[in-house]
Amino acid sequence: MATKRRPSFNSYNPVTDEVIGTYPIISKGEVADVVVHARLATAQWQGLGFSGRKRVLLAWSSLIINRIDQIADLICLETGKPLSDAKLEVSIAVSHIGWAARHAESIMRTSFRRPGLLMANMSATVERSPLGVVGVIGPWNYPLFTPAGSISYALAAGNTVVFKPSEFTPGVGMWLEEAFNEVAPFADIFTTITGFGETGRALCVSGIDKISFTGSTRTAKLVAAQCATVMVPVVLECGGKDPVIVAADADVKRAVDATMWSAMANAGQSCIGAERVYVDEKLADEFIARAIELAATIHAGASGDGNYGPATMPSQIKVIRSHIKAAIADGGTCVYGGPQSVKAPFVQPVVLIDVPEDSTAVREETFGPIIIINRVATMREAIDLSNASAYGLGANVWSKRKGKKIASQLHCGMVAINSTFSFATIPSVPFGGVKDSGSGRVHGPEGLLEYTFARTIVRTRFYLPLHFLSFKRRPQDDRLVIKLTKLLKGRLG
Ligand code: NAD
Repeated sequence: MATKRRPSFNSYNPVTDEVIGTYPIISKGEVADVVVHARLATAQWQGLGFSGRKRVLLAWSSLIINRIDQIADLICLETGKPLSDAKLEVSIAVSHIGWAARHAESIMRTSFRRPGLLMANMSATVERSPLGVVGVIGPWNYPLFTPAGSISYALAAGNTVVFKPSEFTPGVGMWLEEAFNEVAPFADIFTTITGFGETGRALCVSGIDKISFTGSTRTAKLVAAQCATVMVPVVLECGGKDPVIVAADADVKRAVDATMWSAMANAGQSCIGAERVYVDEKLADEFIARAIELAATIHAGASGDGNYGPATMPSQIKVIRSHIKAAIADGGTCVYGGPQSVKAPFVQPVVLIDVPEDSTAVREETFGPIIIINRVATMREAIDLSNASAYGLGANVWSKRKGKKIASQLHCGMVAINSTFSFATIPSVPFGGVKDSGSGRVHGPEGLLEYTFARTIVRTRFYLPLHFLSFKRRPQDDRLVIKLTKLLKGRLG
């Protein structure tokens, strides 16, 4: 009798289209099973305490960095990015794992709060507890760095984790799990499940305690809706249309260098990559000339050849081409490259200027090696245009003197002054966006606390003769409370 074959899917090399590996499509029932096992492992994982978990996580991070060649090769194969970019990604991911492991205990320390005058006989404390089992759903563009920013913080907080990597990078997801299991004291602390969107959907309703999602805004809305039906809280890290503001007193050379790298590196497939520039008109011509000069020195190609690789996801090519065409049709000018720069799977650099703000190319995430440079008369205009976006992930500001003043007026989750991408590499600061870029945070204390819940504990230290939380409350108790409230102008708490 023929045995039923398990449904599976392939992962492809985006440069050659060759099959790299075949992975199972984990079904809804199997997902639920994995989550049950992960839940059974939570007590033992929490029982290890902070120091025990720290030991495991640091052993995992050492193993990853010691095998950097192996994992970086796999990242290259699945995404097509240059080897040096893949290695940088591994190093930054490892620093996040280490930071989470070392800081979880102090971040989750019980805090003591003032009980206030009316409750002076009480002690008031807030404990932090892990949630239980956290589901992580990841994208393909930084297949190690991005999920590691959720997985390691959730594990350090005492949760077990079930990870659903992108269908474009299942190999990296499996590698991470296998590496973890080499150092894990027992099974089911961290499990990877492979598959398409359906597997991710199943994870949302599998009895999980929280979903930490990174991916497109479109999918984030589906995830949030799905999770809402079962009251599962979510962290949503979504797309962006990050602006770069260049003031008249900026170091133009550095600003151009960083902006072009931010826009083009990883083939423009970075959620925090520069997509639009608002440059003071006094500097605009120089900025544009330097951008064109730099664009001419870089090109897309296979790992070992190009400064950046292909569009990892074939369907993105259509979006990139349509944005270039829309920018031109709406009145913008291509000053470097153009529609002819799109030759799947590669997209060569494209520099567009003076693109109207209502163009799709300015409004929607392109996720390609394209930069739009628009002139502004004032920094007020630059700030307003930056904020007039459905997205609010990151931003870059270039100015010698006004950086902080401009940064504080931007409606987004992260701003880098006179640099780019830097906030993603500093583990102690939270990462995330507002508006269509998502909600909740990863990284830093805020990111770690996303995988915990607050438990308030108040305790009676001694009894007062007042009975205001009782049916025995007397008229004099009422009078006292009102008198005190008046006297202290409401500062009873
Ligand atoms: P995507 O939304 O297509 O997929 C993300 C993940 O969701 C994949 O694992 C996919 O299988 C899964 N998924 C698909 N449908 C699902 C469903 N209905 N329920 C649950 N899971 C489902 O995104 P992508 O193309 O993999 O990633 C690119 C996007 O991610 C870009 O928009 C980029 O800006 C964004 N991104 C954001 C950040 C950030 O931190 N803000 C970081 C990296 C990438």
